[in-house]
Amino acid sequence: MSKVRVVLWGLGAMGGGIGRVLMKKRGVEVVGAIDANPRYEGSDLGAVLELGSDLGINVQAEGEAALKAAEADVCIIATSSFVDEVKPDILTAVSAGYDVITIAEEMAYPKARSPEMAKAINDWAKANGQTVLGTGINPGFILDTLIIALTGACVEVEEIVARRVNDLSPFGPTVMTTQGVGTSPEEFEAGLEAGTIVGHVGFPESMGLIADALGWSLDRIEETRAPILSKETRTGEHVTVSPGFVAGCHHTAIGYMNEKPVIQLEHPQQIEPQAAGIETGDFIEIKGTPDISMAIQPEIPGGLGTIALTCNMLPAVMAAASGLVTMADLPIPRFSVADVRDIVKTLREPDTQWGDSS
Ligand code: NAD
Repeated sequence: MSKVRVVLWGLGAMGGGIGRVLMKKRGVEVVGAIDANPRYEGSDLGAVLELGSDLGINVQAEGEAALKAAEADVCIIATSSFVDEVKPDILTAVSAGYDVITIAEEMAYPKARSPEMAKAINDWAKANGQTVLGTGINPGFILDTLIIALTGACVEVEEIVARRVNDLSPFGPTVMTTQGVGTSPEEFEAGLEAGTIVGHVGFPESMGLIADALGWSLDRIEETRAPILSKETRTGEHVTVSPGFVAGCHHTAIGYMNEKPVIQLEHPQQIEPQAAGIETGDFIEIKGTPDISMAIQPEIPGGLGTIALTCNMLPAVMAAASGLVTMADLPIPRFSVADVRDIVKTLREPDTQWGDSS
């Protein structure tokens, strides 16, 4: 059986990690790599991923030619957070015959900010017989998929209150910039104003996923963003934060239905929270019948969690019908040691697991 062929688009903290994990998966072969960073031009993927030996895969700056040359099955896009930035690359990959998984936060539920772009991606994916999924730790799992799964044990749900207290340290320079890490309080405010600092990208997406799944219709979403000021020096891989400067962003969102708050999400994110004595964790409270309370401590690590979800959703995306899909549309996320081709077959034809009926 031939292996599933994957091209990586974006080789930063996440894309690089995804590449390293995929190379160990049974039935998967990484066959191409794209990154616009001039530092990688002409480099072998093995060198970029610091594997200690070359792979014979040249990192390409331009996507379309690289995708066509690789003749692969799945493209993983880990370049940006925003639908308008990844959409051209998604369409290019779909046109070249690829299923696409992206960790762009807005792609977890692109309808939240741009129903037009979501429809355009869906139409193009369907027309080309390919599947497109947005996933990641959050949005994509903690504050949406996991919540939705827990509501499966409820006969009534009145309100959802959830909080992810996490460590930003594993993420790359893109995340440090969008969270305002290392800025002064004045620069943070100016960045919010200018839209260069956005805090967590994902609340409208998580709320949209939850509301859709529960059949709720939200009237509006209110968000607040505040700087988390460090009292101590914190040194991350990509940035150093001096006392009085910003270690991260405390971002909250409330979703209202019929003027009542029904989804409350809170996400204080910072580098090295332990430096300030803060314990990380993921907390979900569902008020309903029954009430459900879940706490995961420490938090599921964002970097590894995103890498894992991307790799683990690969067979589900390959098995799915064509079009733009969400985490709520696909089978339960799971880790598996099985050959990816076998997982795809079982997901497509679940009855075959009971033996041949002929
Ligand atoms: P990073 O800055 O470490 O890496 C991004 C890489 O993409 C860089 O190597 C850059 O050169 C490359 N790149 C950017 N635009 C490109 C383009 N148009 N063409 C080719 N290469 C391009 O960032 P990261 O930590 O790896 O994260 C990547 C993105 O994923 C970020 O936007 C981040 O916010 C998002 N993310 C989402 C989740 C989630 O839970 N959904 C989790 C982690 C990261």
